[in-house]
Amino acid sequence: MDAAQAERMLDDRRREVDHRLARLREDEASLRHDRADATADDEHDPEGSTLSGEWAQVDALRRGAEAERLEIQAARERVASGTFGVCENCGRPIGDARLEARPFARRCIACAL
Ligand SMILES: [Zn+2]
Repeated sequence: MDAAQAERMLDDRRREVDHRLARLREDEASLRHDRADATADDEHDPEGSTLSGEWAQVDALRRGAEAERLEIQAARERVASGTFGVCENCGRPIGDARLEARPFARRCIACAL
C-alpha cells in the first residue's frame, strides 16, 4: 500500500468517524434533555435510571469514536513520516487486509495477538 492509498483510506475512515461522532453528540444532547425533564419530575423516577444506562452507553461510544479519531490522526502522521504500515513492535510490514480493517493499526497481526 502506498502513501496516497493510505491517506485516502485514513481520510475515508475519519469522515466515517466524524459522522458517527455527530450522531452520538445529537443522541447525548437529546438524552440530556430527557434526563433534565425526568429529574424535574421526580428524582426517583425509574425512568431516570433507564436514561442513565442509555447515557453511559452513548457516552462510551462517543469516547470510543473520539479515541479512534485520535488514532487516525496519529496514523496520518505516520504516513507523513514514512512509518505507516510498519509494525511498531517487530518492524515488519502490517498486512494490507489488516490495514483495510484497521487503518490505524500500530502492530502486525502476529504482534497484536
Ligand atoms: Zn509485528
